[in-house]
Amino acid sequence: MALPALACAIPLEGQVVQGGLLTGRVAPGTPVSVMGKPVRVSAEGLFLVAFSRDAIEPVELKSGLVNCTLQPQKRTYKISRIDGLPPQKVTPRAPEDLARIRADNAAIREARRLDTAATDFVGGFQWPVTGRLSGAFGAQRILNGKPRQYHNGVDVAAPIGTPIAAAASGRVVLVHQDMFFAGKTVILDHGHGLTSIYIHMSEITVKEGQRVKTGGTIGRVGMTGRATGPHLHWGVTLFGTHVDPHLLAGPMKAR
Ligand SMILES: [Zn+2]
Repeated sequence: MALPALACAIPLEGQVVQGGLLTGRVAPGTPVSVMGKPVRVSAEGLFLVAFSRDAIEPVELKSGLVNCTLQPQKRTYKISRIDGLPPQKVTPRAPEDLARIRADNAAIREARRLDTAATDFVGGFQWPVTGRLSGAFGAQRILNGKPRQYHNGVDVAAPIGTPIAAAASGRVVLVHQDMFFAGKTVILDHGHGLTSIYIHMSEITVKEGQRVKTGGTIGRVGMTGRATGPHLHWGVTLFGTHVDPHLLAGPMKAR
């Protein structure tokens, strides 16, 4: 999509669009605030700004004497209908399922609360798996006819066992062998609150605490948890804000 040039005196890389992520650079030691809240600035002066899927309001960025108003471009999202899911995976009612979902969500939230000094995000992102894009970011999902939360990542269909690469360098901060919806799950921390998540895996080949490099294998494609076929669901989140991994990795090239 064509975007207007950024009218901001602070150098920013990325797209001012719903689901976009910006990397900014200021003189080292200069504080930065986004909507009046201070954000982490690295020793080199790097910081991150995310636009949510539905961001409508302009985002005010301030650093020293510089003020910028970033108006995210609007997008339209698809509606995606998925039928044939087991009913207990769409509307779980069993107390043990609900307890598992609560525990899974708490573990994911905890990983996404991390605010580390790492700056692994500067190396950029690549597709962890290539294949048919079977689910776009932001799509409104209708599961077995029931409207559900929007799709907060991208899905890439690939055969079971296809190696999954780390989309960027980082540290493994969550390994879970059996989440109710997500199945085998890995979360990587890339610094400053930016994490990536990989779910439905058939196998996980990394351990919590381990450092991984961009392109390093972290596991294999599967269909564990709530999945109707083998694929990788890949998500990228800045604290609570989901961004579109497609915008970070760019067009998909076969490897
Ligand atoms: Zn997905």
